[in-house]
Amino acid sequence: MSSLGDDLRAFVDVSPTPFHAVAEMTRRLAEAGFTELLETDRWALRPGGAHFVVRDGGSLIAFRVGSASLADAGLRIVGTHTDSPTFKVRPLHDIRRAGYRLVGVEPYGGLLAHTWLDRELTVAGRVTTADGTSRLVRLAGATLRIPSLAIHLDRSVRDGLVLDPQRHLVPVLGLESEPELLEQLGAPDAVGFDLVLADTQPAASTGSDWIAAPRLDNLGSCHSATHALIAAEPAAHTALFVANDHEEVGSGSAEGARGSFLADVLARLVAATGDTDPQAYHRAMARSRLLSADMAHAVHPNFADRHEPNHTPRLGGGPVVKHNANQAYATDATTAAWFVARASEAGVPVQHFVTRADLPCGSTIGPLTATRLGIATVDVGSPTLAMHSCRELASAEDVPLMVRAMTACLS
Ligand SMILES: [Zn+2]
Repeated sequence: MSSLGDDLRAFVDVSPTPFHAVAEMTRRLAEAGFTELLETDRWALRPGGAHFVVRDGGSLIAFRVGSASLADAGLRIVGTHTDSPTFKVRPLHDIRRAGYRLVGVEPYGGLLAHTWLDRELTVAGRVTTADGTSRLVRLAGATLRIPSLAIHLDRSVRDGLVLDPQRHLVPVLGLESEPELLEQLGAPDAVGFDLVLADTQPAASTGSDWIAAPRLDNLGSCHSATHALIAAEPAAHTALFVANDHEEVGSGSAEGARGSFLADVLARLVAATGDTDPQAYHRAMARSRLLSADMAHAVHPNFADRHEPNHTPRLGGGPVVKHNANQAYATDATTAAWFVARASEAGVPVQHFVTRADLPCGSTIGPLTATRLGIATVDVGSPTLAMHSCRELASAEDVPLMVRAMTACLS
């Protein structure tokens, strides 16, 4: 396996939640010389300065300031999301039933529920104490499980599995005598918490240099973008990476792509580099480009008829440019050409995706961000199978290809 593929597996293993993913990305950025800015501080930025900003723990913006003013050179931006479908622990989650202790959870995002059955699960996230401080937590080991019902007790399962999330997808913590979840997490002092279920099986190397792992959508893109921003050549323009939380539930939050995080940081970048011209921000946006990166659908051998027959991306074939006539993806002629030309300069092959005319299309942060900020945007992603499964499948060969394409776009 390529070393970047190994590194992606390690990245996924230490990132069970958006909070852990942001902690890992900031650790890597800090190691590469990026320093943290707080939104509460006054910023004064210099050309070449490399910084990152975190909003509410689960969203990150990192950038290297260009040598020219933003109004004159604009920005090259890569956008991703940090969250994945999962189950979120309820505030009053302690359930005792039939001699067992269970944990009340609520589905988060469009998950494939059956893929969470019979897997070794843990709980991770952040807890906040009464004094307002937050810390990351992760239950050691594989403590939770959502067992299937034996076929002998429901023969109708042969006609299709029906799972009611309220009744059938409640994880078992153990027998009733087991300590309560927050106690097990070493956080009986938690007053608030954002905790989710996570698969504990380490990301694996399988098949033709493939990666089987949870949360590849969209930690795969977060991982590539972190590498690309660190590797990007200093330039006249400013290179920026934004990773938003809450994409899987519609992006509507202060730190989501519908929120103000990116717009706020972009406005402050213009002001903090000393440009007082009231037109500077708009000139900067008009000169900018955004590469919105979210995993793409590779053609599935058992369901090839679900794909548009002329557009069948394959694992290991390189980044996929996503197109949609109805703007579910923001790609157009100019932004597609920009990405394909940069990829070509980097020696990276490109694939294309459109959905079938008789099937609905997914979407990404690309159109949302383009709509909010007016920045020309292209939607791309690495090919994936089993998107939104508890275990997804991608190719290690696509990792260096995406990193090289992103680096070329940011340089
Ligand atoms: Zn995604």
